[in-house]
Amino acid sequence: MADIIDGKRVADNICKKLKEKLKHESSTPTLAVILANNNSASKIYVSAKEKKSSQIGIKTCIYRFDSSITQGNLIKLIHELNADDSVNGILVQLPLYKHLNQNEILNIIDPKKDVDGFHPINTGRLCSNLNPYAIPCTPKGILKLLNEYGIKLQGKNVVVVGRSNIVGKPLALLLTNHDATVTLAHSKTKDLKKITKNADILISATGHPKLITADMVKKGAVVIDVGITRQLDKKLVGDVDFEKVKNQASLITPVPGGVGPMTIACLMENTYELFKLQN
Ligand code: NDP
Repeated sequence: MADIIDGKRVADNICKKLKEKLKHESSTPTLAVILANNNSASKIYVSAKEKKSSQIGIKTCIYRFDSSITQGNLIKLIHELNADDSVNGILVQLPLYKHLNQNEILNIIDPKKDVDGFHPINTGRLCSNLNPYAIPCTPKGILKLLNEYGIKLQGKNVVVVGRSNIVGKPLALLLTNHDATVTLAHSKTKDLKKITKNADILISATGHPKLITADMVKKGAVVIDVGITRQLDKKLVGDVDFEKVKNQASLITPVPGGVGPMTIACLMENTYELFKLQN
């Protein structure tokens, strides 16, 4: 049976170290968070980020908007935050209200304040393996988890299921930069099982509960479950059929308590790193 990868423990350690480092700084890093949607999950994520920041010693400024917010006003706010030396990181919680142009908003954030690493300068730097100012938090958290558990990437077959701009694609680039042989699968992929069966490390990020069943996993593979879906009974589940797959894998992340806490820890770390870059 697989060992469980304890993302909460690793994330708590990262946050503890950050808190210690921040005690020795003469000023406080500040993270601006823009919440311009009416999505209940987004509200929970923003509250979680706010809580973790205050525990560590990072100041947050949360800008909450109702649906009357215009593209022009949001652009104006981002320009102001870019120009404000007291703000070190800017995070736009996605998705935005449908009438807003998400790409235009993300693209005007100063790349040196782009704490999520979604600006084209940062994605381009990641693509070229040229030190992005910030690496997207979930991919970065997964890499840290793999490192922490001593999982070598060089020459390994890694299959990433899901090709979103925030998880799958940057993760595939990051792991390629670390010498893994990466296959990026998505909803149009033919015979997914044939591909996943070949994975030494299988990472699923689709939001599709029980997509990954035991027969899709090679014996002894490492399985990382990024998916988070809230069921009708309010329980959170991942993409992986955990109870069955754990008998096939050598290491597996739970949901919750796996990748999720690492995403927030890496957001904290990115905020601190951008603060150091600017000071
Ligand atoms: P998106 O909806 O943007 O992307 C989902 C991806 O999964 C798409 O590329 C889609 O393919 C692919 N996909 C969907 N169904 C299938 C299928 N049946 N077979 C193969 N591929 C499929 O989601 P996100 O990347 O934003 O998030 C994915 C999941 O991860 C969600 O559950 C989200 O809540 C969770 N998440 C968790 C985080 C954490 O910290 N743990 C952080 C961020 C997200 P196609 O492109 O063809 O449509």
